[in-house]
Amino acid sequence: KKIIIAIDGHSSTGKSTVAKQLAKALGYIYIDTGAMYRSIALYAMRKGFIGESRFDQEKLEKDLPKINIKFEINPKTGIAEALLNEENVEREIRTLEVSKHVSKVAAVSAVRKKLVEQQNQMGENKGIVMDGRDIGTVVFPNAELKLFMTATAKDRAERRYLELKERGEEVTYEDVLKNVVNRDHIDSTRKDSPLRKASDAVKIDNSNLTLEDQFEQILVLART
Ligand code: C5P
Repeated sequence: KKIIIAIDGHSSTGKSTVAKQLAKALGYIYIDTGAMYRSIALYAMRKGFIGESRFDQEKLEKDLPKINIKFEINPKTGIAEALLNEENVEREIRTLEVSKHVSKVAAVSAVRKKLVEQQNQMGENKGIVMDGRDIGTVVFPNAELKLFMTATAKDRAERRYLELKERGEEVTYEDVLKNVVNRDHIDSTRKDSPLRKASDAVKIDNSNLTLEDQFEQILVLART
């Protein structure tokens, strides 16, 4: 029987790695909801609605009906990539610049409402692994399996720093750590569905686990 698997946790806890592995092993679809919030943040940045110390929330809200987010499967990798109004933005939404602004955009109720509705529809066909911040609490409160991933901010910043460097971004470790801590704060304290562990979610702290060990544990959970 196909199920819905909800994976939540702070940024860079390895949610997407686990989600991708699970989807592959089970033949499920993987949806990265962070990519949806990131795509809207990118739209707002390009339109000049958002900058270092400025955010024109009203203009963004007004434009929401014009923003269309979809996924397309990359035939080479089999992984779903984000489309913002038909343009593939998968690379651009992963920059530190977008990471710096995305949590502000994600705190807007109208943005969450739009994306949660769309995510609900995606779950109509089971056999889905979805990761984010509110999947087990808001999007799929009845998901058959919920995971909540944690790791120390230092471990997460290190992982993120290496990823960004690998992609050729000029970043410092201090900047990445600052971003991780800042997003943790905004994501956990926002009024609208703040990040928290669902009471029935299984907590996975991967600070001291290898990816293989962690995946073994999770696969057992998904199959029982
Ligand atoms: O998962 P990722 O780090 O790419 O998410 C980027 C940001 O999008 C998060 O820091 C959070 O502010 C927001 N987000 C959210 N709810 C989700 C997924 C992401 O608020 N379900």
